[in-house]
Amino acid sequence: MLDPQRSQFPLNTAVPFSRPQQALRLGLVVPCYNEQEVLPQTLAKLLALLDRLQREGLVDDESGITFVDDGSRDATWSMIERAHLEDRRVHGIKLSCNRGHQNALLAGLMSTSGDVLISLDADLQDDLEAIPRMLQAHREGADVVLGVRSRRDTDTWFKRTTAQGYYALLRKLGVDIVPDHADFRLLSRRALEALRDFREVNLFLRGIIPLLGFKRAIVTYERQQRTAGESKYPFRRMLALAMEGVFSFSTVPLQWISMCGVVISLGALGFALWALGVRLFTDLGIPGWASTVIPISFLGGLQLMALGIIGGYLSRVYAETKQRPRFIVEQSL
Ligand code: UDP
Ligand code: MG
Repeated sequence: MLDPQRSQFPLNTAVPFSRPQQALRLGLVVPCYNEQEVLPQTLAKLLALLDRLQREGLVDDESGITFVDDGSRDATWSMIERAHLEDRRVHGIKLSCNRGHQNALLAGLMSTSGDVLISLDADLQDDLEAIPRMLQAHREGADVVLGVRSRRDTDTWFKRTTAQGYYALLRKLGVDIVPDHADFRLLSRRALEALRDFREVNLFLRGIIPLLGFKRAIVTYERQQRTAGESKYPFRRMLALAMEGVFSFSTVPLQWISMCGVVISLGALGFALWALGVRLFTDLGIPGWASTVIPISFLGGLQLMALGIIGGYLSRVYAETKQRPRFIVEQSL
């Protein structure tokens, strides 16, 4: 279950101890944004899972589910309210407006009690059968258990290839990230307390989690198709999240800019020497149009790109210095 190969930094493979075998208090944290189509099924499946885990003595009867309503405009919140009235194990947090999946997830993780919390998507794409295995890995000593997809064949070709390219890029940039792991994970209480100290506003949880340290384990699972409703992650949001992973966890692009600057300056020096040579030692005519226009447009493009990269960092510094709250809770059940 522990797989050191998946991470750049070695995971602790030797698990020196097992935790005491008493039932854990488990909290399932489920961010929801306009999920009225899928919520009834999700609720039924998660309650059935809790029943089973309680029967097996793995979790105690205070274990529950926290649904975080990320500013939905449909009936999501009223469904959560009703579920809370019907079953005391169901809790709800309503954010005052839509703050995005990462912030909603953090809100749930920071406000739910329990010895361990497991975050999962509302659409049941994450395999619930992986949850008992996650609990087992925790009992064997892991504070952080990551759900990793064993295959990506439910994805479109486009999503699959861009994801692969993205993980390769992050590795090159020195970001410790486990490929094919999204936000399906177990965190122990002490890992959650450590997470609390990460105050960043530009959230990319799967980049922060490896920085927590602690013992990590991996549980593989097959990701299903969305049960109902449609994806709340359009391409624009995927791209924004991907940028967060680069800008918030690596400053290597800034070094690339400097390297480009050095290489191009050296090239320009060579070019100047050549031009001087032509001027002094030959009687060739006026240098051509191309040799003027090409460097100008090339350098113009390069400068804009460099400015864009610097702007990417600057805008994040700007957001961080303001220290605005990452989420605002309107109501809790
Ligand atoms: N989500 C959220 N806020 C948002 C967008 C999404 O809380 O602004 C939730 C959504 O309800 C779901 C999870 O994040 O539980 C993952 O979203 P989705 O399944 O739409 O993403 P995909 O699986 O398509 O990448
Ligand atoms: Mg989904």
